[in-house]
Amino acid sequence: MTFDKPGNQNAGQSHYRKQEHNLSPVRCPKCGKMAREVQTRYGLRSDCCGMWSWHRWPLQTKEHHDAKRAAHAVFDKLWKSGLVSRNKAYRELSDRLGRQAHMKEMTLDELLKVPLWVEDIREHELAANGEPHGGAR
Ligand SMILES: [Zn+2]
Repeated sequence: MTFDKPGNQNAGQSHYRKQEHNLSPVRCPKCGKMAREVQTRYGLRSDCCGMWSWHRWPLQTKEHHDAKRAAHAVFDKLWKSGLVSRNKAYRELSDRLGRQAHMKEMTLDELLKVPLWVEDIREHELAANGEPHGGAR
């Protein structure tokens, strides 16, 4: 993948800047060719070798997209439940990730951990609010 920032793991010092959004056409990390671009009603879509991305973000595998969608779903459910604010939910997630959390910028491994982190945040909030624990939502 194109997450070629070795500093990612020990981030903290690196703040993500808007300019890191890749606005030039993306190159396929697998075959090295420029990705094919299609303008869709959802925006610009790039694809190659079974991977794709939107708005010229690095191409990602289906597995990665699925993980991102799943992570988003579980995370959005957390703050939409009203248990925590969206801001706080992001802050808590960032704490666990070790840097500012953006689903778009997470590796597959990180995305797969999001449901666990969300559960952890939920447990903490429930405990802080004095509500009973338990698997039930
Ligand atoms: Zn390719």
